Parts: sequence; structure tokens; C-alpha cells
Amino acid sequence: MNIKLLNIHLSDLPEEKERFDTLISPSGTVATLNKIASNLGIEHMGYDGAFPNSEEVAQAIKNDIRNTLESGSSPVLLFTTLVYNAQSTLAFITEIKQEFTHSVKIIVGGQLIPFAKKAYIQNLNIDAVCIGDGEALIPELMNDIKQGTLKRHYEKWLSSSPETTGKFEMVDYSNFYQLDERMLAQKALSGLSQLCLQGLGGPGCSWAANNKNKACDFCSLQNITEMNRQSLDTVMQTQKYLQDTLNPDRFFDVANQFLPFLSVKENIEWLKKYINKREEYNINTPKYVYLTVISVTDKIATLLKQAGVEEVYLGVDHFDKTALTELNKSHRSMSQLEKTLDALQKNNINVRMGLVVGSAAETKTSLQSLKDGIRWITEKYSDIMKAIGVFPIYILPGSKVYEHVKKMPQVKNIIDSFESKGYFTQEEQKQLTFEYMKEHSQVQPEDIFETIKALQSMTPDNTISYSYIESPNADALKL
Ligand code: SF4
Repeated sequence: MNIKLLNIHLSDLPEEKERFDTLISPSGTVATLNKIASNLGIEHMGYDGAFPNSEEVAQAIKNDIRNTLESGSSPVLLFTTLVYNAQSTLAFITEIKQEFTHSVKIIVGGQLIPFAKKAYIQNLNIDAVCIGDGEALIPELMNDIKQGTLKRHYEKWLSSSPETTGKFEMVDYSNFYQLDERMLAQKALSGLSQLCLQGLGGPGCSWAANNKNKACDFCSLQNITEMNRQSLDTVMQTQKYLQDTLNPDRFFDVANQFLPFLSVKENIEWLKKYINKREEYNINTPKYVYLTVISVTDKIATLLKQAGVEEVYLGVDHFDKTALTELNKSHRSMSQLEKTLDALQKNNINVRMGLVVGSAAETKTSLQSLKDGIRWITEKYSDIMKAIGVFPIYILPGSKVYEHVKKMPQVKNIIDSFESKGYFTQEEQKQLTFEYMKEHSQVQPEDIFETIKALQSMTPDNTISYSYIESPNADALKL
């Protein structure tokens, strides 16, 4: 039996509205699933709904299914399901099953599944529900499909065996729907084309793995301690191949933190090796990476520059001391932030920066600190500050904040509905944010959203300030 695997990440957001921190990039998850399929010798194609638009991608997937069936192969659709695409993914799955019935197999995986597992397992349009690492799951899935023994539910992690622990895959873009067109469109839109890599600082997070209180409260990846243990040679071979074949203007290292250690000393040693390997493989494509504020010293910033890092995303989160303490960052003072930004500025490394508003209890003082902080940053670091994202807390299943919200009686109907249908509507997601702020902060949600609006108008023209959640309609929420 011949299988064609269609790796699909749907997105309702058009290319130019793609996420603030990841910018416009073809899905790295799809590229990794492609790599896994390619290693197994399985025919495959990757689809990312963000380009050119969701309707066109949906038609392309349907055409691929028809052609695959005509050629006598069996199409298997593997969907990556996250909080922001679950509703549209489930709607598309229903459409596919109505049109193609049992001639296609539908598999779902992704970060959201464990939190609404029952909803996905009970959904008869879905043939198999997966929890775990694609690298560990896909070989078994493909084998079971071939043998006709596909089960409804799989759970498997690389860490279940010492031989596979940390063997996370890199990326493969060779079968990626409209990749060339997309790279050209990226360039037209933002001046550069950018491809995702899977780096050694992921898929876990060195911060969550090594500090005593573990992951940040608002983070949905609470157990992300397992790090990629592939060699630096494997990383550089991937970069070299992409540089020679696709020649993007920039790589985006999607590791949650580019630097794989918490200790500065270990990171310095690692960066030196990284730089040597990069030279050995003749890599000159610049890079965009995620960093924590505390991981950057003068020495580290100099080495980052030598490692090709030209822009970083810094999770600054807040400026207020009490809010930072609640966010598990009590050590993160303003002088620490200043040292980090000074070091990046000295090395001419650009910064994109994210603030999370309403995760910690907001007060009048904390809201004022946001205004003061942004004013200070835009004045002192205007040469390197490319964008400041101001994000109202987004309640992500899996986060500590979600665990708290789940216990709030006023949102019980929304949580119950999520657990039975497998997704939040946008309005439900907004309402969770609003109710959490109302319960948790000392100021009203309206004051928080007013502050966010004011912050957005404070930033200079070249700095996009951006937020996912608009203030919801108070009447509609019956406040
Ligand atoms: S939000 Fe970022 S830094 Fe915090 S635990 Fe999650 S991945 Fe790590």
C-alpha cells in the first residue's frame, strides 16, 4: 500500500498578519513533519494555510487528494492543531470527510489535543488522535495504516527510550506548497525571505528546564524540558543545504530560547563551538532568534553577532517589579534589562520585544510602568528597536493561568464547551481574557485595554505595536 502524507497547518491569518514574533515564515512544524516523512521514504507534501490564503490552500489539498487517489495511493492527512487554528481545522476536516469519506485517513496532533482529548477521540471524522512527538509517532502510524491496524489514539514521546531521547528532527522544505512564491511574497512584504530552523535551544526551553519555578505562568509548554540533542554538524548541514538550495535572506531559529543553557559560562562555550562550526560549513545566512533578557551579557552579545544573529526577540513581559515577581522573574530588574539592551545595541543587533499585559495582577502603578518603560525604550534604543508587541494575556490551555481560569465558576460554560467541542471561538477566547483580568487584577479590564491602546499610539512610526485581542464588546459580555 502506497501512502502519501499531507502535513497540514491551517491558519486563518493571511501572510501579512502572521504572528508578531515569528514574522512571516512558512510553518517550521510542517517542514519538520516533512523531514520525518522524507527519512521514512514516504511520499509527502507540506501545506501552510497562511499563504496564499486559506481557500486556495484548501483547494490545493483537495486536488492533491484527488490526484493521489487517482494514482492508486492512499492520502493520509496529518493536521497540527493549536489553540488559534483548532476551529478552522475541525471545520475543514468535516468538509474533507463529507467529500472524500473513508478514502482519506485523518490524523490530528498538536499542543492543544491533550486538553480536549475526549472531544477529538469522540469526533468520528478523525481516524487517529496523537499526543507526543511526531518523530516517535509517525513511523508507528504509517506502519499501522499499511497493516490496516490504525488505532484511535496514540501517545508516544522520544523520551520514552534512551536511544531516541532528544533526537528531534530538523527541517525539509523540498515538498512545501508554493514555497518559492511565498519567499518572493515575503520579500515584497517585509524586505526579506525567512525560513524556520529547529535549533538546539529547543523544542524545550532552557529557562523552564533550569529555574526552580519552571515555565512562565502564561506559557502553554509547561513541561518543555527536553532539549534537542542532535549534533552541531547536523544543524550546520541543514543550514548549508538550505543556504545552497533555497538561499533565504534569513533563518529563524524557532527554538524557544536560542541559547540552550541557563549558565552564561556554558552558553559562551557553546557559542564559540557554534561559530567555529558555522565557519567550517561556510554559513553566512543571518539569523533571527529568541532570547531571554537574563541570557545576554556583553560577551554573549558579541558572540551572538559572530554567530550571525542580526535580530532577536526578547520576552520582556513587563517592567513592574511586582508583576515580574508574579511572572516568575523576580531577578529581572530594569538595570538588568538596560544592560541587555546596551549589549545588543553595542553589537548592532536589532530587537523585537514582547510585553504581556494582565497575566500578573495589574495595578495603576504597573500600568504606568508600561508607559514609562516603552517611552524609555523608544527614546534610548530607537536605532535597534524594530517592534514592540503588547499582548493582553491569552489564556492558553496547558498554562498555569489556564489551570486557574478553569476553576473560575463564571467561565465554566466556556471550559465545558471547549472540552466537548475541542476549540474556543474567538469570542470565547476574548471572554476568558476579560474574566481573568477582572478577577485577577486590581484595575478593571477596560483600564487595561485603554492602556494598551495608549501604548500603541506612543510608539514611533517604524515600530509596529500589535495585539491579538481587541477589547471585547462589554455589552455582548453582559458585564
Ligand atoms: S514563555 Fe518562553 S521563556 Fe517562558 S517558559 Fe515558555 S518558552 Fe520558556
